[in-house]
Amino acid sequence: MAESFRCEVLIVGAGITGALVAERLTRQGRQVVIIDRELPSLGSTVASTAMLLWEIDRPLFELSQLYGFEKAIRCYRASHHAAQGLLTLVAHHGIACQMRRRLSLYLAVDDSPKCVQDEYALRSRAGLPSLYLGHAALLKRFGIARAGALLSRDAADADPVQLTHGLLDISLQRGARLRKANAIAYDNAARRVTVGLENGISIEARHVVLATGYIMPDIVRPTAQQPASSWAIATQRQPGHLWPEQALIWEASRNYHYARTTADGRIILGGEDDRALVEPDARDDATPAKVRALKDYLKTLWPHASDHVAFSWSGAFDTTHDGLPLIGAVPSCKNILAAFGYGGNGITFSFLAAGLLATLLAGGTSRLLDDLAIDRDIPR
Ligand SMILES: Cc1cc2nc3c(=O)[nH]c(=O)nc-3n(C[C@H](O)[C@H](O)[C@H](O)COP(=O)(O)OP(=O)(O)OC[C@H]3O[C@@H](n4cnc5c(N)ncnc54)[C@H](O)[C@@H]3O)c2cc1C
Repeated sequence: MAESFRCEVLIVGAGITGALVAERLTRQGRQVVIIDRELPSLGSTVASTAMLLWEIDRPLFELSQLYGFEKAIRCYRASHHAAQGLLTLVAHHGIACQMRRRLSLYLAVDDSPKCVQDEYALRSRAGLPSLYLGHAALLKRFGIARAGALLSRDAADADPVQLTHGLLDISLQRGARLRKANAIAYDNAARRVTVGLENGISIEARHVVLATGYIMPDIVRPTAQQPASSWAIATQRQPGHLWPEQALIWEASRNYHYARTTADGRIILGGEDDRALVEPDARDDATPAKVRALKDYLKTLWPHASDHVAFSWSGAFDTTHDGLPLIGAVPSCKNILAAFGYGGNGITFSFLAAGLLATLLAGGTSRLLDDLAIDRDIPR
């Protein structure tokens, strides 16, 4: 880019969130420019294990205690709707991203199944598609020995990089422009927002959408965000040693592990999240120990698999105190919106964000925009 220019909507960030927002806004016929200071999809998106869950990090049980049943169920239903919407969008456009519809298993971590039973009772009341499996049923169907689990429909997995590029291609075909640029300043004093770039030029946009992942510009100042890191491993290919039905697996615990399989027969397993290690160098130093811990966990979860690790990696994995994303208008920043889909189902939240921001730009409202507001009060 050699000269300053104007556009209707400028999206800052070309990860999965920016790509989903761009697809949604170009579908509305908007004139969109997307910038990223790196190559598209190389932020946290490339590190994602891409389990596309509608279940939220905070169980419905806890979210109801925090906000009341009505609001908690609204968030869960929106997340369920988003997961289904993402599946439909990918199928509609035939995006080649290895997306596979999956079941998900939410495992009890204690000797008692009580916490998943309580969760099941609330999900049933809300009409969400989960079934309770007791110890014997879980062992018989999946060969996993835990006190109990919830088995849910409508989850999926995918390759997050291919998904991002597939979505960006659709937007580019509709006339969107994608440029490499680093946004360093935001000025919204006039009717349009002027975004200053590192190379000295600027872009004037009627609306700006921040989709910068875990790198939050200073203008946002949220109080709900907690920095953290997560680690993941992928085993060698072992298609004959995967668990039945290749369900997505995660756990009823704040510090849960998560696991899935890949189309070519690997096991991907993640977790060992750490709030104290957030700098990239510290993360790298901790990787050997974290990989050992993940391998130990794999042996207890699924002893039939080889724990030979083909790849290991880590990334920023910020969360929020209530497990919900930060979506909507940036407080005190007219015409600047943000989509921060933090947490274990960040990608599902990114899809949700795309829809909500499209609604907002079209002049609509949604109670979810209050529920997920960047400056919402989160009881601690
Ligand atoms: C190990 C790991 C496992 C995960 N597993 C899952 C999972 O199983 N399921 C799930 O749903 N989610 C998972 N997540 C979370 C998920 O990956 C994130 O929610 C998602 O990738 C966020 O995408 P994004 O586009 O918002 O951010 P990013 O992918 O980080 O993209 C942000 C982009 O903004 C660009 N950018 C930032 N600042 C600027 C600037 N000033 N100017 C220009 N460009 C800028 C960056 O270069 C980057 O490309 C996982 C994350 C990690 C790290």
